[in-house]
Parts: sequence; C-alpha cells; structure tokens
Amino acid sequence: MANINIYLRVRPLLPKNQQVSVAPSINFLSPTCVALKSFPKEVFNFDYIADQTTPQNQVFEIVGKTMVDKVLSGYNGTIFAYGQTGSGKTFTMQGKYSTDNRLDFDLRGLIPRCFEYLFYKIETLKKTTAYPVHVSCQASYIEIYNETVYDLMDSSKTPYQLREDQSKNVFAEGVTKKPINNSADALQMLMHGISNRSVRETEMNSQSSRSHSVFVLYVEIKHNEKDGCIKTLHSKFNLVDLAGSERQKTTRVSGLQLKEAANINKGLSALGKVINSLADNRNELKRSFINYRDSKLTYLLKDSLGGNSITTFIATVSPLTVCDNESLSTMRYMQRTK
Ligand code: ADP
Ligand code: MG
Repeated sequence: MANINIYLRVRPLLPKNQQVSVAPSINFLSPTCVALKSFPKEVFNFDYIADQTTPQNQVFEIVGKTMVDKVLSGYNGTIFAYGQTGSGKTFTMQGKYSTDNRLDFDLRGLIPRCFEYLFYKIETLKKTTAYPVHVSCQASYIEIYNETVYDLMDSSKTPYQLREDQSKNVFAEGVTKKPINNSADALQMLMHGISNRSVRETEMNSQSSRSHSVFVLYVEIKHNEKDGCIKTLHSKFNLVDLAGSERQKTTRVSGLQLKEAANINKGLSALGKVINSLADNRNELKRSFINYRDSKLTYLLKDSLGGNSITTFIATVSPLTVCDNESLSTMRYMQRTK
C-alpha cells in the first residue's frame, strides 16, 4: 500500500433515476482507468475502480482491510470519501439506511466493516502472540461545519477549539473520548453520533451534506517483549465523510450565507492543497511548505496526513449525465494527488 491511494466508485442508477435511464456517462477503459463519455480526452487513473455492481464487502476487502492492518502495525491512517452530494459517500462509509433510519446489515459500509475487522484482528493478536499484548482503544466523533468544530456525542451547538499538545499532536479540546472495547461499542457510538447530527442540523438549519464528519479511533498496543521491555505502538485511524464537493451557489446570497458558502469549500480546497504538496514533496526539487492551518479539517488531521501515515481517498461519482461537470471536477481533484 502506497502512502496516498486513490479509488473511484461509480454508484448505480437508483430506482428513481431509471425512468430517465440513459447509458451511464462513464467509459470503463481498464480496471484502473476511466473517462467521461462527454470528455473522452481526459483519461483518469486510479489504484482501483469500483463500478455500479461492486458490492460493499469487496470495497472493504480492497480499501479497508489493508488500512486496518497498517493501523495495527502503528501507522496513522485516514480514509476520505469525496464527491458531490448524492454520489454515494455515506453509502460507502456508513452503509444504507432503511426508512426507519436503521443501518441495513448486509449493506453496511466501510466504517462498520473496519470496526469488525479491527477487533477481530486484536483478538487474534492477543491469542497468537507468545508474550502478553494489551490493546486499548478510544474514539471521538467530530463534525466540522462552517469552520466550527462540534462533538457528535453531544447534540448542542457548543463549538470546540483545536489545540496542539507538547508533541505537536492536534486535538479538539474537551471533545468526548470514549473507551471502545469491541466493534459493538464502536458501532453504537457511530449511530449515536449520526442521530445527534440530525438533531443539531434541524436546530441550526444546516445540512449534513455541508459538513465533514470525522470518526477517530485511537489505538494503543503494548507488547511485553522477551527481554521484559514493553514496546508501545500508538496509532490513529480517521474515517471521514466529507462535505459535498459541489460548488456552492453564491448568486443571490449575501452576508452570513455567503460566508457559509465560502467556508464550506475551504476544508476541501485546503485538503487538496495539502495532498498536492505531499505529492510534490516526494520530488526533492519541488519541496514546498505544507499549510495545515488553512482549515479546521487539515489542522485536525495534521498528524495523519504526510509523514509516516497512509491516506486513502474514495472518490464517488454518479452515473448520470447531468452530473458530468461535477464528476469531472471530482476526478480532476483526485488526479492532483498523483
Ligand atoms: P452522499 O453521501 O454522497 O450524499 P449517499 O451515500 O447518501 O450520497 O447516496 C445517495 C443515494 O444513493 C442513497 O439513497 C444511497 O443509498 C444510494 N447509493 C449510493 N451509492 C450506492 C451504491 N453503490 N449502491 C446502491 N445504492 C447506492
Ligand atoms: Mg452523505
């Protein structure tokens, strides 16, 4: 697994789209290469492409599994879902919800599957290692809306501040950090966060498609070694459902709404710049300064972007021709990381 990995997922036509059904707008040129039919000259390469038929478990096998393995060997890892509203970010990360807002087990997404695999691996590790292993996990679930940080374990409008500790790790001061003992604990926390998010959304008249949500798992593994020494590994695993990447309409809005529109895309463009600089920095001649402080999102994830960490993007696109311009800009954004 490389330090930066980019995947594409094309969602199927939904039942409500099928009457407008036209040939999907995407040409699959090879297992790792696509172009939009209306922009055939721009060919995009990915590490892997999931098409309309790729099931959730296969996306997990390819995108989630190696990431969990890396986290358990001490790397910080982040999975981002990036794409326009309605393209399948939440379906990919969380899964599919039934009408009564329950997660459909068979269609659960990457986050629940990563929880299950992580705790399965931890149990295996404990059983198969010759010397005692102690693992402890904690989690936070954070939302960033309009450049303000909220705790998803709390449905209030309380804003939180980002701070740096002595070892330069960034954290949201005062945000809930819950001990997690198994995948059921983690899933419960996820579901609780999702319900708080919709409460605040209603109160603040905001939309979740305009906020970033970040589930952070902190993992600590202590191994007793043969010589009696204790070796400790710390890692962080971030699962991020980004705000919709579509252009915010700024015509006919002013004041607060205009500021909001500007702030919403701030995180995404700052993230693009950081990733771009990281990709450039692989080349000695192009080394540049990385501006993590340009947005709350990049600042919060500072210690998980670059250095000894693994970053994975899943770009999601719709197969509808009316979405071509947004799909094109999603694919271009991803290509900057190459
Ligand atoms: P986003 O989070 O990007 O706004 P959603 O994940 O909510 O988009 O997806 C929009 C709709 O499409 C939802 O009804 C979702 O269940 C459905 N959907 C998205 N991707 C898929 C897929 N790969 N297979 C089946 N349905 C999907
Ligand atoms: Mg969503």
